[in-house]
Amino acid sequence: MLYDIIIVGGGPAGLTAAIYARRNGKSVLVLEKEGFGGQIAYAPRVENYPGVSSIQGSELAERMLSQALELNAETDIGTVYAVEDRDGIKRVRTQEGEEYTGRCVIIAAGARHRRLELPGEGELTGRGVSYCAVCDGGFYAGGTVAVAGGGDSALQEALLLSDICRTVYVIHRRDEFRGDTEKQKRLFARENVRAVTPMNIVALEQSGGDLTGVRLRHALTGAEQLLNVDALFISVGQVPELGEFANVLPLTADGYADLEEGGIAPAPGIFAAGDCRRKTVRQLTTAVADGAFAALNACRYLDMVP
Ligand code: NAP
Repeated sequence: MLYDIIIVGGGPAGLTAAIYARRNGKSVLVLEKEGFGGQIAYAPRVENYPGVSSIQGSELAERMLSQALELNAETDIGTVYAVEDRDGIKRVRTQEGEEYTGRCVIIAAGARHRRLELPGEGELTGRGVSYCAVCDGGFYAGGTVAVAGGGDSALQEALLLSDICRTVYVIHRRDEFRGDTEKQKRLFARENVRAVTPMNIVALEQSGGDLTGVRLRHALTGAEQLLNVDALFISVGQVPELGEFANVLPLTADGYADLEEGGIAPAPGIFAAGDCRRKTVRQLTTAVADGAFAALNACRYLDMVP
């Protein structure tokens, strides 16, 4: 089958693109490698999406997917590793061995968790190191945990952990947190939460293959200290993974799709949307806005190209 639009990524940007494209009568396939909804599916609460004062992230993700499916968007699970253009037809290949064809491709591949790149970080993942409090927090209920990072995600992780853990340290390399002020107030008002700043994590301590603590270095004085923890939740932002698409997308030095707001790539019929695109504000609202832009531009392209 030749789809009008193949969307790579089933997060908020990709699902919004699917909704807009279907409402414009285009055939759509959304390919997702893990679970639909992207990062939002792991957010305990979403409280800044207009019209919905508070909702569990997974429920909002489910609603977005349902809306796309009700409009007859097709979906499949697959990890896309190549997009090629042959005479105007885009061939999209997945690691699962499938090849799909479309007239347009919207790349809404999101981003993965950034790592601290500390020795042992990979081996300790799942043995005290985690990137997702919703997924792993329960293993450390009643324990002492640390969250690394100073953005909204770190604050959100720490809030969630502070409901179930005895002590939560929030380790950040600067004194000021960049996350939402209201969230900071709510978090640091809790008795079991302590800010540990301005500190860099310089080593992971382990015993028997499990994390036992983190070694910290003061950003100004250089003084070191050991903090014993049962788990470290790393929440220091995301990095895009667009290397496979460099043949069809211009990339910034740090790997984001180097496109303007409309998401139109120089290669005809290629678009990008969401967190994988160069931008200054990465929010759910900007991701869905991107999805709408890319889909409408793709529809316009399809209507112009015979
Ligand atoms: P972010 O805003 O980019 O914050 C990343 C944090 O990690 C920053 O505090 C940064 O420090 C720190 N960091 C980065 N690299 C580091 C390193 N190598 N070592 C130590 N610390 C490091 O990322 P995010 O928190 O994942 O949020 C991403 C976007 O999603 C943001 O726009 C955020 O507002 C949005 N978001 C919104 C909500 C919501 O409910 N509204 C929830 C989650 C995320 P510096 O501050 O020093 O740079």
